[in-house]
Amino acid sequence: MSTPILPTELPPEMHHAVEEAVRLLRAGDIVALPTETVYGLAADALNPAAVAKIFEAKERPTFDPLIVHLPDKKQLDTVADVPEAIQKVVTQLIERFWPGPLTLVLPKKACVPDIVTAGLPSVAVRVSSNPIFKRIIQGLNKPIAAPSANRFGSISPTSSSAVLAELDGRIPLIIDGGACMHGLESTIIKIEPGSPKPLITILRPGPITTEDLKLYGKVQRVTRTVIDEATEAPGQLASHYAPRTPLRLLSKPSDFTPVEGKRYVLMSYRGEEKDGYLDLTDFEEIMVLSPGNGKLPEAAVRFFYILRTLDQIGADEIIAEPMFEHGMGAAMMDKLRRASIKD
Ligand code: AMP
Ligand code: MG
Repeated sequence: MSTPILPTELPPEMHHAVEEAVRLLRAGDIVALPTETVYGLAADALNPAAVAKIFEAKERPTFDPLIVHLPDKKQLDTVADVPEAIQKVVTQLIERFWPGPLTLVLPKKACVPDIVTAGLPSVAVRVSSNPIFKRIIQGLNKPIAAPSANRFGSISPTSSSAVLAELDGRIPLIIDGGACMHGLESTIIKIEPGSPKPLITILRPGPITTEDLKLYGKVQRVTRTVIDEATEAPGQLASHYAPRTPLRLLSKPSDFTPVEGKRYVLMSYRGEEKDGYLDLTDFEEIMVLSPGNGKLPEAAVRFFYILRTLDQIGADEIIAEPMFEHGMGAAMMDKLRRASIKD
């Protein structure tokens, strides 16, 4: 059976959608919901049987822990124990960035089921700023586990139609909230005490950037090892966010030599001829991430949509231009590198 999508544009339909979502969540079922990052597949985080349905629908391995969303930042201590030594910086970070796309990894409280944290002693927590998500979680008044609403390892959905393409018939309901505001998954950090400043480690780059976090501590990117991947940020697994079409990330135009007879599509950063990528071959399709002349937040909003659209063309290869590695460019380059890895 096909999964229904409920609209939320007008107040009466919005109230109906919110009620339906809360009803299903309360009954231990799962629902796809809009957030400001990407669409999430939601379940009551404190109900292990409900959370198990997320893993089943996504075909997600159970060693990959989920992010827990709270109805309000005041409820952080219902799921996490904030160590005294980092209390001050945690308060500063959540005052500044919540609700918003910043996830904190903190020691977990016993009420958080093991299936949510993949058995880890820590829990990843955030508060979403999406108005529809907010109404639903406040209606439920419980924490919600909500990983991206896609099949494991595939491209994250930033629209209700993308969720449908990923999970049609596998989930009972999709709530439509339009296109996601940021378009990239939340930044995940862990925090350790440090002198003179706390140490903030970025486990997954995202909309809250190194530059944003610098004010609050010494910021570092995680140095990845196989063990880190399993225990620290499993969403960082090598081949993630992968389109079915092989993807090649270039560092400069001369890195690419087209093969006669092969079909190529191009993911261009700003679509400028002077950058030297548009004419490399007779591309079957060229899609521009930031037609606004190279603005990283604009590129981020369009990133997964363009990746998904180019993937559907069925070319032999997606060629991707590189982006600046600062701000949100760091997260997109990270995802392009992962997408370009083939097993
Ligand atoms: P997503 O599928 O986008 O919701 O992301 C969930 C990701 O959050 C996981 O794949 C991990 O990278 C990260 N995560 C969740 N819980 C933890 C945790 N306890 N420690 C570290 N990272 C976590
Ligand atoms: Mg995901």
